Amino acid sequence: MQTPSAPTVASQWMVVTDLDGTLLDHAYDFSPAAPLLRRLEQQGVPVIPCTSKTAEEVEQFQATAGLSSPYIVENGGAIHFPHPEGWQPGNPHHPNPGGGVVMPLGWPSQRLRPLLDALAAELDTRFFPLEDLSQEDIMARTGLSPEGAALAARRCWSVPFVPATDQPIERVEALAAARGLKVLQGNRFAHLIAPGSDKGLALAALRRADPRRRAVLALGDSPNDTALLDGADQAIVIPGANGPHPRLQPAITAGDYHLAAAPHAVGWADAVATWLAPPDPIH
Ligand SMILES: [Mg+2]
Repeated sequence: MQTPSAPTVASQWMVVTDLDGTLLDHAYDFSPAAPLLRRLEQQGVPVIPCTSKTAEEVEQFQATAGLSSPYIVENGGAIHFPHPEGWQPGNPHHPNPGGGVVMPLGWPSQRLRPLLDALAAELDTRFFPLEDLSQEDIMARTGLSPEGAALAARRCWSVPFVPATDQPIERVEALAAARGLKVLQGNRFAHLIAPGSDKGLALAALRRADPRRRAVLALGDSPNDTALLDGADQAIVIPGANGPHPRLQPAITAGDYHLAAAPHAVGWADAVATWLAPPDPIH
């Protein structure tokens, strides 16, 4: 939501964005936004992925996009600061084997997996956790390469799963909530995460780690982004080819979220460029 004091200078913002279905289209292409991403990196405006992807997947994205900013993985399970200079990661945080520091926020996947099995038993249904799927099955469901599918399966802070087709996700979400857990619906998988780790709580931790106290422009496309969008100073929904996700429509109608004019990287670049470089006010 735009606040009356929303800054109009780009360097006073950070952009916190979902990846799949938001900046990336369903073929994982973000090329229409690549020039803007490079410009924001040069201007020192952090573009911070906030995604259900694993750290290794985001590292690959960061390298391709030329970004050096922090990133939030596995639906808020941890924040990685590959270059922690200029940030103040809260505690606990520890060195990341690949460089920089990592700040865990959620529960380890090994702790979550038995809880997912218990939810399935209680609902008398079957879930198909990502880690149990064959590499071929993951590739067929995600369109990822063999290498990409392997990176996607290396979870630390969440258990992605496919519910049985006769199992409404709302029922799974409700039972998880009743058991003190969280199930979030993404584009291709549902995700079991710890109660203290969603994208909104990760955004709050990120804001505390930002000594410059920048305003947040957030972008998302799915119900698992609502906590992120609700915690931002300006929230933008990226539509799919058939319009915005139906569960985000009420907040768009209410004016809490702004709807981008086009899907994926085209809409992303248009909305970010417009918001960070507003035209001079007309007198
Ligand atoms: Mg998404």
